Amino acid sequence: MLSKKLESFSERNSTLAPLIEQLDSYLTWLVEHNVTEVIPRVAAAKLGISEADALALLGLFLEAGLVKPRYDLVCTVTKSVLGSYYSRDEIPDDAECRLCDRQHDADELRVELVFEIVKGRAANAAA
Ligand SMILES: [Zn+2]
Repeated sequence: MLSKKLESFSERNSTLAPLIEQLDSYLTWLVEHNVTEVIPRVAAAKLGISEADALALLGLFLEAGLVKPRYDLVCTVTKSVLGSYYSRDEIPDDAECRLCDRQHDADELRVELVFEIVKGRAANAAA
């Protein structure tokens, strides 16, 4: 069920192979439940690995074109997402927050890295 690219990663690195398969199943499960993104921290907990390892794994999926990184700018007061960006360069230093009704600077903002699951992967897996 793995994409060709992931299969070749698995063949080259047998210690990673089971994790690649687990993450692939997890992504498939998310898609089936209409979840369009994966949070590295949550994926790490799900797979029982460190967040750094989860990020490295997601890097492989990124290279295989199965996910794409997105940066969510989060208000630390209300935990709401103020904006989403596809490049680090686009992330502003401050942002207007409607919930708090004021401008937040870096002290009240947090950038959360999430990976969007590329649409059509279910179709690819079936092919
Ligand atoms: Zn706010």
